[in-house]
Amino acid sequence: MKPLLLDVPVTDWKLPAGQAYREKQIRDWVLKRFVSSYEEMTDLSAPLRADLSSRFRLRAAEPAKIQGSEDTTRKFLWKLGDGSFVESVLIPATMGSSGRRSTRLTLCVSSQVGCAYGCRFCASGIDGWRRHLTTAEILGQVIEAAKIAGRRPDNLVFMGMGEPLANLPNLLPALELLISPSGIGMGARHVTISTSGLAPQIEELARHPLQFRLALSLHAASDEIRDKIMPVNKRYPLDRLLKACDAFVQAKNKQIYFEYILLAGINDDPSQARLLAQHARRLHAKVNLIPYNKVEGLPYERPSETAIRQFCQTLLQNGVRATVRREKGHDIDAACGQLRLKEINFKGEASS
Ligand code: SF4
Repeated sequence: MKPLLLDVPVTDWKLPAGQAYREKQIRDWVLKRFVSSYEEMTDLSAPLRADLSSRFRLRAAEPAKIQGSEDTTRKFLWKLGDGSFVESVLIPATMGSSGRRSTRLTLCVSSQVGCAYGCRFCASGIDGWRRHLTTAEILGQVIEAAKIAGRRPDNLVFMGMGEPLANLPNLLPALELLISPSGIGMGARHVTISTSGLAPQIEELARHPLQFRLALSLHAASDEIRDKIMPVNKRYPLDRLLKACDAFVQAKNKQIYFEYILLAGINDDPSQARLLAQHARRLHAKVNLIPYNKVEGLPYERPSETAIRQFCQTLLQNGVRATVRREKGHDIDAACGQLRLKEINFKGEASS
């Protein structure tokens, strides 16, 4: 199979002598105008288009299924070149100030096919890990979603399928093209990378010059409970993990975010809320509480509204900024991995 153009160093594009400026033209077509065929690059000569097309694939992801409508959360199941499936979710949020209203689009993207980290409550890990997404496949989700939506998303969160920090060699070049004004031009504070807690990679990111936001998928405030629901905690227990976060916060001078999925009877106890508040205060972290989205076949449940409110209240009373995130995709399988799982079940096998 031919490689994807954006996965190949520009020197290997072998642009005609004296035509280095073509690089910018091609990148603009792909990253700013979201085209998916060489034929659409009308300022390139026909022979150059034919030459590139004979050597490199351009389109990294094709929509296999779209759920939802323009005004609501839309979930995309993408088919990749090797027949694997990943998903992204496009979430509109209406913002209003001084009488002016606008809709901001947040795209949640995947970083791997499947996931090796096996968090007990998560659909993505059920089928195990298949492979890393390439740089072009990460960018392809943004490009295709932008094309379908008619505009670039305003925010990007790496909270889809996979552990982004396990795929840093492909993620970092993708981030550069996402953030750079000569690439997609998202702006660093509009890109959030989430991690289940890979401490060494958090430290590596602390040393990296790229700017972005970091979200730690904490989901439990003590080792005892985190060990039970997130196997990664056995490798990087909370003490080790929070020290890595200290290093990130100090190096970047940026607030980090704690993601906390509330699971009834597992991690929604007031004692967890108080411990969580301690961790959050130490790092000046903001906490996003996410009531669990039921996954078929898994034994976890969403807490009652009262329990959710009380957990949030405890954080607020302990001096922590906290909000409850209401997923809009509850009715369309918008928890990570769910749409892909259904596709796998339907077809019997997702990738070839
Ligand atoms: S929550 Fe994230 S890291 Fe954990 S299994 Fe799911 S995709 Fe992987």
